Amino acid sequence: MGTRRDFIEKLTVSAVSLPILYGSTNLFAASEQPYKGPKLRVAIMGLGSYGTRVARAMVDCERAKLVGVISGTPSKVIKWQSEYSIPEKNCYNYQNFDNIKDNPNIDAVYIITPNALHCRQAIRVAKAGKHVICEKPMAINAKEGQEMVNACKDSDVKLLIGYRMHFEPKTVEVVRMRIAGEFGQPKFFQGQSGFVIGNPNQWRLNKKLSGGGALMDIGIYAINGARYILGEEPIWVTAQETKTDPIKFKEGIDETIQFQMGFPSGAVASCLSTYAMRHLDRFFMTGEKGWMEMKPSSGYGPIKGQTHKGELQQPHSTHQTLQMDGMAQIIFEGKQPIVPIDGEEGLKDMKIIDAIYLAVNSGKKIELQ
Ligand code: NAD
Repeated sequence: MGTRRDFIEKLTVSAVSLPILYGSTNLFAASEQPYKGPKLRVAIMGLGSYGTRVARAMVDCERAKLVGVISGTPSKVIKWQSEYSIPEKNCYNYQNFDNIKDNPNIDAVYIITPNALHCRQAIRVAKAGKHVICEKPMAINAKEGQEMVNACKDSDVKLLIGYRMHFEPKTVEVVRMRIAGEFGQPKFFQGQSGFVIGNPNQWRLNKKLSGGGALMDIGIYAINGARYILGEEPIWVTAQETKTDPIKFKEGIDETIQFQMGFPSGAVASCLSTYAMRHLDRFFMTGEKGWMEMKPSSGYGPIKGQTHKGELQQPHSTHQTLQMDGMAQIIFEGKQPIVPIDGEEGLKDMKIIDAIYLAVNSGKKIELQ
C-alpha cells in the first residue's frame, strides 16, 4: 500500500488527465454560447413516476431531447405524445421495441422500469444498436450487470447508469475537494439512506420485480456515496439486517440493513439503508485535515451541505436536466463526469450489494476482490 501522498497524487493525476465535465452544463460551457450541436435523441422506456420526472426535466435540456416512448399502456403513450410532441413512428411497446433498430431518429433508450427488468431490456436495446441509459440499480445482481456490460460492448453502444448525483454541483464540489487533498486522507464515512415506504402492493416490495428491498432501491446511494466521497473501492463488507414488519417486508425484501465497508487506505464506512425510517438522507465524512456533511445528500434537492471551509454554495439545478445534458456530452464528445456513470461503475455497486446480502445471510465478513 502506498503513502497518503501517493494516494492523493494518484487520484489527482487520474482526475486531471481526463476531459472532465464539472457537473453543470453552465460550468462546463464557460463560453455561454448557445449550443448548436447535435441533440441526444432519447426514448424513455417505462412511463411511471421517475420516467415522468425525467421527461419534464428534459424539456430544459440543451443537448438532449425526448423523442420517443416505450410503454405497455396505450393511454399513457397518447398523453405523452401530445405533451412532448412525440411522433407515432417513435412509439413502441414491450413486444415490438426491438424494431427501434430500424429507427434512425432515436439515439438512446432510457430504461426506467422495475429493477428486475433492466437486464433483459438493456440487452435488447443494445442488440438494436442504440445507446443504453439505465436506472439504478442497473440490475438485480452483478451477474446480470456483467451481462449488460458485455452486451453493450458487443454492440459497440454506450451503457450509462442514471447516477444523477454525479452531476449535482455540491456533490461534484466535495469530490473535487477530496481529489485536491483538501480533506487530507479520508478516514470515516457515514451514509444514511432511507424513507418509509407506502403501498404494500407496489413492485418495490415484490422480489420478482425489485430483486431486493431498501438496499437495492435507496441503500445504493450510501454505497455509491461512500465510494465517491472516499475515492476508493471497498475490500470487505459486514452487514446486519433488522426486520420489524415481516408481513410487509417478505422473504428477500430487506426492510433495514446496517452495513460497514473497509477500504485499502484503512478508511471505514458505516451505513444504514431502510424502508422504515424517516429523515434519513445524510452523508458525513471526516478526513485527516477536514470534514464534510451533506443533508439532504441524495434526494432531488436542493442538496445542502457544509465542510470545514463553510457552507457549500453551488446553485441548485434540476438533477435530471444536468444528467441528461451531461450524458449527451459523454456520448457525443467523449467527456467524462468527475465520477463515472458507465456500466462498470454500476457493476461495482452491484458487486457490493451482492456482498452485503451475502454478509447478512451468512453473518460473515465478506472480502471483495
Ligand atoms: P414506477 O412504478 O413509478 O414506474 C415503473 C414503470 O415501469 C411504470 O410505468 C410501469 O408501467 C412500467 N412497467 C413495465 N413493466 C412492468 C412490470 N412488469 N411491472 C411493473 N411495472 C412495469 O417506478 P419508478 O419509481 O419510476 O422506478 C422505476 C426505476 O427508476 C427503478 O429502477 C427505480 O430504482 C428507478 N428510480 C430512480 C430514481 C433516481 O433518482 N435515479 C428515482 C426513482 C426511481
